[in-house]
Amino acid sequence: MTPGGLVIETHGLSKRFKERLAVDGVDLAVPAGCCFGFLGPNGAGKTTLIRMLLGMTRATAGTIRLRGHEMPSDKTAALSRVGAIVEEPRFVPYLTGRENLRVVASARETVAHDRIDPALARVGLSERADQKVKTYSLGMRQRLGVARCLLADPELLILDEPTNGLDPAGIHEFRQLVRNLVGEGRTVFLSSHLLDEVEKTCDYVAVIDGGRVVQQGAIGAIGAGEQASIPVRIGCDRPSEALALVSSLRHELGVIGLEAVVDGLELELRVPMGDGTGGIEAALATINAALVGAGHGLFRLEVLRQSLEDRFLAVTSRLGDGA
Ligand code: ATP
Repeated sequence: MTPGGLVIETHGLSKRFKERLAVDGVDLAVPAGCCFGFLGPNGAGKTTLIRMLLGMTRATAGTIRLRGHEMPSDKTAALSRVGAIVEEPRFVPYLTGRENLRVVASARETVAHDRIDPALARVGLSERADQKVKTYSLGMRQRLGVARCLLADPELLILDEPTNGLDPAGIHEFRQLVRNLVGEGRTVFLSSHLLDEVEKTCDYVAVIDGGRVVQQGAIGAIGAGEQASIPVRIGCDRPSEALALVSSLRHELGVIGLEAVVDGLELELRVPMGDGTGGIEAALATINAALVGAGHGLFRLEVLRQSLEDRFLAVTSRLGDGA
């Protein structure tokens, strides 16, 4: 491992296919022991970057360190404790799940055979392990793919769009599996175009768009430094008087839109993104105290919270604007 505890580190990583720059100067820093989401729309360059990480395709420019080893020059050491599923996991369909794992284990160190049963149990496939893979659902093949990764007792798992095609129950199961793997101290790097998925599963995220990483950091910090406009609904009596009162505080609170409605107020607050909800909560507490202090009956205070999706769209659309 590198001194900073980074399991993946890239600098200026680029890949050009003729005139198309699919990956453009990417600097990634993936801390050990976390789930790291690599989030971007279709065609953003996720699979191409993963293929470079695994030495499946050569970079046009830039450097990669995997578990502290240079790629691709020190490939054997770098990949020795890495498991990966790139695109859909492929198996020999007329062999059983267990037989497929035996084939893979035979090409690894002897101890890999001892890991077959525990790996099948870990992914919940013990019962179906002796049936042919062609009878498996996609979700089962994805889980068998993880079991195959576990034969290497991996420090790092790289999973390319692992929940593609899974139903909601399958997605939920897969998420649990990933969190358990992280709980064991492994690092999971997973690519996804599903914002909700990344938000629920990952601790860190890098957002890629048009081959470039546009944001990177802890999930809650995405969009930090940006200003977000957050809608708030307030239910109170005497809305027109409430409007005048909140209006007198608008500069202090960052109120940018304000109107009275039948049962209260609707307003928009401009707060810094990525500071958790502290900015919003402080503003709401002030509004609450002012209204109650002036004798208003207050029966609702509702924040329409920002999801990662909003932040993600705010970040990626900036590129579309040419900013
Ligand atoms: P998806 O989720 O749709 O798989 P992605 O983010 O994984 O998208 P990539 O598959 O890495 O994106 O593709 C990035 C860009 O590089 C796309 O414009 C794609 O068309 C292009 N590309 C990928 N592989 C090749 C190739 N072998 N030759 C030419 N262009 C390619």
